[in-house]
Amino acid sequence: MNFCTPTIKKGSRPVSEAFAALAAKAELDRADLVKLLSAKALDEIEAVRAEAERVLLAHCGEGVYLRGLVEASNACASDCLYCGIRKSNRDVNRYTLSLEDILSCARQCADMGYGSMVLQSGERADRKFLGLVEEAVLRIRDETRSEKQPDGLGITLCIGQQSYETYQRLYEAGAHRYLLRIESTNPKLFAQMHPADQTFQSRIDCLKMLRQIGYQVGTGVMIGLPGQTLEDLADDILFFDTLDIDMIGMGPFIPHPGTPMGDLPCPDVAERVRLALLMIAVARLKLKDVNIAATTALQALDPVGREKGLRAGANIIMPQMSPTDVRADYQLYPGKPCIEENATDCQSCLNMRIEFAGRKIGLYAWGDSAHARKRQNG
Ligand code: SAH
Repeated sequence: MNFCTPTIKKGSRPVSEAFAALAAKAELDRADLVKLLSAKALDEIEAVRAEAERVLLAHCGEGVYLRGLVEASNACASDCLYCGIRKSNRDVNRYTLSLEDILSCARQCADMGYGSMVLQSGERADRKFLGLVEEAVLRIRDETRSEKQPDGLGITLCIGQQSYETYQRLYEAGAHRYLLRIESTNPKLFAQMHPADQTFQSRIDCLKMLRQIGYQVGTGVMIGLPGQTLEDLADDILFFDTLDIDMIGMGPFIPHPGTPMGDLPCPDVAERVRLALLMIAVARLKLKDVNIAATTALQALDPVGREKGLRAGANIIMPQMSPTDVRADYQLYPGKPCIEENATDCQSCLNMRIEFAGRKIGLYAWGDSAHARKRQNG
């Protein structure tokens, strides 16, 4: 097993005064966001990061909350041009976890004190799968109640575009958060990356329906896409703000060789990691009290990517909880970490990573965003 030793040390590093002043500005406009995202020199990046960390601690506290990630099925009816499990990729061994498998992952999450889980899958709107998800949500909420967590695990769904009725039904079953990335808010980029059945407008409609039903809503984008500009990324952050979203999951784009976008030119790895970390920091500066995940894609490109994400303003980590024997079959992109580990390995590795980032692990708690709590309390 590979425990990557985090090497980030706390301490004072040189800080660009100009970037520090800009990062601390009360209302950041589009031009400010673009400027902050252009930070290149180490002292510029450190200025943005340090202010984002300060804003995070002031608005959300030092807790890092966990969402055990269970990849329920890699079967997919859609053909997104970047995604390794797109339906046209014949090299994928397709699977769907059984209800018993999902429940056993959930129990493991609960036993380890991870307060929440995420059920993710390819795009599937078939009756059988939706029935499985509904049953799983009902049973998870019921069977993971304990003295330490009387309401059971919090459940986030990430199963793509669905009808209003489906979203409603799954909400009533007990799911309370939903993640649906917009992938890019530049409609042209969006259209280039998606098949005709996935439209920019239909994703926005889904995000609005989810909010209307009562979910806490998360969205996000891929960073370092071919043709993407800093202005596009600034617009992505403005979009999160305008839609009043509660959580953000975003990470670097990682070309998958089995997809049409596998060999398009995109920024190199270091550049995509730099941009992804800056996006976390700048989104934190603009939105302040939302939950932001340090995503697995960051760790796929940098062994300490998630710790760097935490130090740049993220407060959520999604530890892998899928059964080890299916992990390799759910590869949205190559280089996915933790494929050979099991849930307990991931637990000890995570504790260490969070401590190294100077933060506290939040166990037995749903860890809803401060933003959602404020909205719900009026
Ligand atoms: N079908 C669900 C779940 C998709 S997987 C849905 O569409 O919501 C979750 C996320 O993985 C996607 O939203 C996408 O942003 C990310 N992803 C897929 N392929 C990727 C790639 N090649 N590089 C980086 N992220 C990728």
